[in-house]
Amino acid sequence: MNKRVVSALGLVLAAFCASALFGSPQAQTQPPASKPAPQAVPLTLIPLKGGLYMVKGGSGANGGLFIGQKEALVIDAKMTAEATKAQLAEIAKLTPHSVTTIILTHSDGDHVNGLSGFPPGLDIYGHEATKKEMEEAFKDPKMASLLPYLPNKVFAQSRDIIFDGEPVKLLYFGPAHTAGNIVVFFPASKTAFIGDLAFTGRDPLIHRQKGGTSFGYARTLKAMLALEAETYIGGHSDPLTKADLQALQTSIEERQAKVKALMDEGKTLEEIKKAFGIEDLQGQTARRWLSFIEVIYLDIKEDRR
Ligand SMILES: [Zn+2]
Repeated sequence: MNKRVVSALGLVLAAFCASALFGSPQAQTQPPASKPAPQAVPLTLIPLKGGLYMVKGGSGANGGLFIGQKEALVIDAKMTAEATKAQLAEIAKLTPHSVTTIILTHSDGDHVNGLSGFPPGLDIYGHEATKKEMEEAFKDPKMASLLPYLPNKVFAQSRDIIFDGEPVKLLYFGPAHTAGNIVVFFPASKTAFIGDLAFTGRDPLIHRQKGGTSFGYARTLKAMLALEAETYIGGHSDPLTKADLQALQTSIEERQAKVKALMDEGKTLEEIKKAFGIEDLQGQTARRWLSFIEVIYLDIKEDRR
């Protein structure tokens, strides 16, 4: 796809995800009043295999659901308590079992800000960096209702759990999109829920302020490709295949090599951006995030590999 189109798509998604993606205290946590959030598509539960569902639509990112023999597990919350309640109502149409467990792929607002729509006292799994980032974001008094929903099952490395008899792997491959992003893999169904560890039709989003790195992102894609998985469910795309992930990994590594070569030639950031055709985005006030090329440049410059 044409780079300019990719960047334009990135802007559209940026607007859709609103500023709640950021956990840093400097960042806004509410969309400006003058700019109402775009109408979200209705929430649907799309059946996959082996009791798994993709949670699609509703306010916030796509997530997952597993319905076991006695209880149910949700991967990521929606962006608002109302959207999460709507999700629970949809789940209740499918099963009498209660949701007892939540697994968070990472800390971004469109994946966690709806946690307060769940009843209190559930098991909430998350990487320790995710917990730290959420604690930081929830210092905002407007988000105090989320404080009881910090992860209470915290880990620093990959962790295997058995949920209602089903093996579930919580895989940590290091910082990529954020410092604490994990992959939730169901080996029996060859399905992985990957949060924001792959996008299609737009550049990956790297939260450098949360420890993200483009090199870690490429490494994580490689690790996800090595899984015995057939389906990858991301937060902002339709179900992905290995071919999608492979294409993304190749394109990232190609761009990293090209940026490195241009830097070795002594080119400035502006020249490098121009070489990638992204000079036209300069000065756009609507742009909240660094371009992916800029992220790669900084990762190399600061040796954040
Ligand atoms: Zn995210």
